Amino acid sequence: MSILVVGTVAFDSIETPSGSAERVLGGSASYFAVAASFFAPVQIVGVVGEDFPKEYLDLFTHRGIDLKGVRREAGATFHWRGRYHEDLNVRDTVELHLNVLSGFVPRLPEPYRDSEYVFLGNIDPQMQLQVLDQLRSFRLVACDTMDHWIQGSDRELRRVLGRIEMLVINDSEARLLSGEHNIVRAARSILKMGPKTVLIKRGEYGVLQFSDSAVFAVPAYPLEEVFDPTGAGDSFAGGFLGQLARSGDQSQGGLRRAIVYGSVVASFAVEDFGLKRLNSLSRDEIEERYRRFVKLTDFHS
Ligand code: AMP
Repeated sequence: MSILVVGTVAFDSIETPSGSAERVLGGSASYFAVAASFFAPVQIVGVVGEDFPKEYLDLFTHRGIDLKGVRREAGATFHWRGRYHEDLNVRDTVELHLNVLSGFVPRLPEPYRDSEYVFLGNIDPQMQLQVLDQLRSFRLVACDTMDHWIQGSDRELRRVLGRIEMLVINDSEARLLSGEHNIVRAARSILKMGPKTVLIKRGEYGVLQFSDSAVFAVPAYPLEEVFDPTGAGDSFAGGFLGQLARSGDQSQGGLRRAIVYGSVVASFAVEDFGLKRLNSLSRDEIEERYRRFVKLTDFHS
């Protein structure tokens, strides 16, 4: 089953306590697509500017990712500059240039309108609504967002939440969206906004899944060194939705396994700057770390 992702394809400039990188390939759609491509065919809808190099597009095509929905428009590519604190769960957006993304209207190539699995990556909620309006039939739509859109486009975001099945969001954003400090209360309040499942990403502390009838917790894979947490959330979402699309299993057990696969892919993503580590990753490495993950969390046998 193929997966459609709509989100940013970006230049990222990143500073972490381990070093820095200038104008590397980033963006919510990029991380999601590369992560999901280990599990299922992926199609991206997004926009880049005239300055976007062919080598970056080649990184996607080498992974078999379909770029028919990526438009090149006059102007500069979306550029984000972020700086992480010593506590890597905290980061500041130093610069945000929407460039060709402002005014972008996502247009889904005809065959994409029947995509079964859809991820509305972190992007203007108005654009997420435009994508929802073009979908004809689907099995699952999941969505991400961030503080920038929660603060600036709350009304549109609420309309998106009323139309999707799953929200993937980090803890501080869940607090901001719900107005609740306690994370369980925040999740319960978000479930009332529409999604049937809320996945709360807690950086190095892992992920919590909430639905009306279940709560599930997975730790982050313990790593000695995290080089660059950028894209961990989108890589998690890519591994998670990728596994759901591959297995077709949306039972609670299937969701739990997918959450662990998402956590595995995210743990690789943070081992190097930008998409470097995911680009050298193999399926075998994913399976091996999945087995280690099972051992890590087993307290029953
Ligand atoms: P994550 O670390 O998973 O939250 O995702 C980081 C990615 O989000 C980076 O690659 C950025 O290019 C992208 N990004 C940062 N700010 C925004 C924004 N306001 N809208 C969409 N994407 C963004």
